[in-house]
Amino acid sequence: MNTFSIAIHGGAGTLIKGRMTPEKEQAYKSALQAALEEGYQLLENGGSAVDAVDAAVRILEDSPLFNAGKGSVFTATGSHEMDASIMDGKTLNAGAVSLVTGIKNPITLAKDVMEKSEHVFLAGAGAMDFARAHKHTIEEDAYFHDDLRHRQWQEIKNTDGFQLDHSVKKDSKFGTVGAVACDQSGNIAAATSTGGMTNKKFGRIGDSPMIGAGNYANNKTCAISCTGSGEFFIRGVVAYDVACLMEHKEMSLEAAASEVIHKRILEINGDGGLIAVNTKGEITMPFNTEGMYRASKSSTGEQMIAIYND
Ligand code: ASP
Repeated sequence: MNTFSIAIHGGAGTLIKGRMTPEKEQAYKSALQAALEEGYQLLENGGSAVDAVDAAVRILEDSPLFNAGKGSVFTATGSHEMDASIMDGKTLNAGAVSLVTGIKNPITLAKDVMEKSEHVFLAGAGAMDFARAHKHTIEEDAYFHDDLRHRQWQEIKNTDGFQLDHSVKKDSKFGTVGAVACDQSGNIAAATSTGGMTNKKFGRIGDSPMIGAGNYANNKTCAISCTGSGEFFIRGVVAYDVACLMEHKEMSLEAAASEVIHKRILEINGDGGLIAVNTKGEITMPFNTEGMYRASKSSTGEQMIAIYND
């Protein structure tokens, strides 16, 4: 049996340590633990990497602590527009949705696009039609309301500014969520889900639903889920870049991921991080920010949950 493992993230950013209370830290860690366990149990019971990343991300989407699903940030018009994508490293099948509103679990919508349509990427009204046709749960606005997020939006509403929900000036540490997994058969998958950036407008879409930028999986190399300033991750084609360094330069998972996060993306001023797994079940989780909510568990017995760089 192959070593199986899972890693998850809840966003990278400048998480101001002084503003983190032990209670809040505990709440984040418990949410990460719950998502990690859900995915790990599935793998332990022989489930596929695709099902494991979907299950783990659903738990994070259902938590108000993270900027995805229920905890999605406010757009410039006071709504919540969500993006998500998923990729199966065995088949290279992929599914993505963007600019969807009210969807309780955008990651599962992306999975349905992958498994039940002829397409890869659906957006806006069309994606909503697809969601209704496939009986996805659609919630009222109130479900997505969060006082802190609302305050963040009020501070920059009516300006041209937009920001990561975990940027330095704001008292918030929420983030995009993601999972990568390697199952007992040695197949890998990646999933990423986000509410994007506070006060975003003009139909802004980040890297999270873009295959190759914020999310990628290929059994030849690795499965990757990214978090950070999406504009830079799109330009750096970050997730695919890690896979390319492994495939064409024969770099290890760790070296390739580190090269992209600590060198290449920094050269274009990109801030953020990623989680990655290969078909041996090895995991790496580099970030160039003060912290990244992250957790991992492997059938070798290794397990970790961390926020800061310690
Ligand atoms: N990458 C996401 C975006 O730009 C944001 C995040 O990682 O928190 O939409």
